[in-house]
Amino acid sequence: MSPAMDEKIEPIYQSVIARNPGETEFHQAVKEVLETLGPVLVKNPEFAHYKIIERICEPERQIIFRVPWVDTHGKVQINRGFRVEFNSALGPYKGGLRFHPSVYLGIVKFLGFEQIFKNALTGLPIGGGKGGSDFDPKGKTDGDIMRFCQSFMTELYRHIGEHTDVPAGDIGVGGREIGFMFGMYKRITNQWEAGVLTGKGLNWGGSLVRTEATGYGATFFVDEMLKVRKDSFDGKTCVVSGSGNVAIYTIEKIHQLGGKVVACSDSAGYIYDANGIDLALVQQIKEVERRRISAYADERKSAKYVAGGNIWEVPCQVAMPSATQNEINGKDAATLVKNGCIAVGEGANMPTTPEGVKVFLEAGIAYGPGKAANAGGVATSALEMQQNACRDSWDFEYTENRLQKIMENIHRDCYNTAEEYGAPGNYVVGANIAGFIKVSRAMLAMGVV
Ligand code: GLU
Repeated sequence: MSPAMDEKIEPIYQSVIARNPGETEFHQAVKEVLETLGPVLVKNPEFAHYKIIERICEPERQIIFRVPWVDTHGKVQINRGFRVEFNSALGPYKGGLRFHPSVYLGIVKFLGFEQIFKNALTGLPIGGGKGGSDFDPKGKTDGDIMRFCQSFMTELYRHIGEHTDVPAGDIGVGGREIGFMFGMYKRITNQWEAGVLTGKGLNWGGSLVRTEATGYGATFFVDEMLKVRKDSFDGKTCVVSGSGNVAIYTIEKIHQLGGKVVACSDSAGYIYDANGIDLALVQQIKEVERRRISAYADERKSAKYVAGGNIWEVPCQVAMPSATQNEINGKDAATLVKNGCIAVGEGANMPTTPEGVKVFLEAGIAYGPGKAANAGGVATSALEMQQNACRDSWDFEYTENRLQKIMENIHRDCYNTAEEYGAPGNYVVGANIAGFIKVSRAMLAMGVV
């Protein structure tokens, strides 16, 4: 169970709420971390003296800008762009860009805040940042996407750089968008600066395994949690929400490890296939044709599509939420536990509400929070940066091996830290404290900056 917030930390949290009004997702992400830090201040009073928590909660820089562009019909469109450069104690700001109509400052800040600790957990030299836009890529032509990305980059370019801030993808931003943005950055700066963006194409500076990394990494993390319990994916029935990049490669790795994924979804509904999801078909529908997941049931008679349905009602032993924030509430979590779920690995960022997390922790199931479980994506971005820095490219096997080792290390770090702080098996406590300590030590060493 999460301990109640320490009395020295509570006023810091209250001030975060007062200083950032209306940013509910940011408040939620901060609360979840601050609740676990009480014992850290007892062991490290210098963190309180140097106001490390207050400093970590305040982004180093927040950029908000206009993104004007002209659509296919010649109509002028205006969107809002964001980049929040949260913390650079451990390396250049690093984190994705999200293009989704729900994006506003509160979403970018929750993601940026979580990114600080996630990136620290990877053990690689990357700070935390996040950005995006309220632009909705759904139903847009390739031309619209290109013009939007170009306009977005005409402002963003002045804030980023391989040693400053290195964006990548997130929801609504994949290889196509990174390509358009890299092209515009290259044109404006007259630099072929590979390390300025990650998630690039494989023939122009990208890294093998980056596309698969978040899903593979989350599955490796769950596999580690299962191993601790002398268990494995073999023969397990699994449910993976979403059908984007994270979900697709989670399904692939679960199948490789002997599990069977029977359901996945998009924002309109879910598909259920008792024979196991046919990944090639999902990839054809989502990655090639960019259609809705309902098309799966049209093509595959063994499957049913449940419009507007709740995927968490599908009984499973392992659940991997890989769609978006707050997709599992307290009731969903209770349903999962009641139906025999023994492990949850978060491919998405903050997909479980605080009530849901409480249910999982009280039930004592293996619960891997996003900032640990989905760190494989950004970790492989850091591997892409390494390859770019030495103008090299590694093969698939070697890169996947590096990713797997990183996930094993993150798991071990979280597991051991939770034990050390008196909360054995609690990966929320382990991930928050282990990530926080890494960042805090670097901040202490660098003085008040
Ligand atoms: N958007 C991903 C995340 O949530 C990856 C970020 C990156 O590769 O920089 O961690």
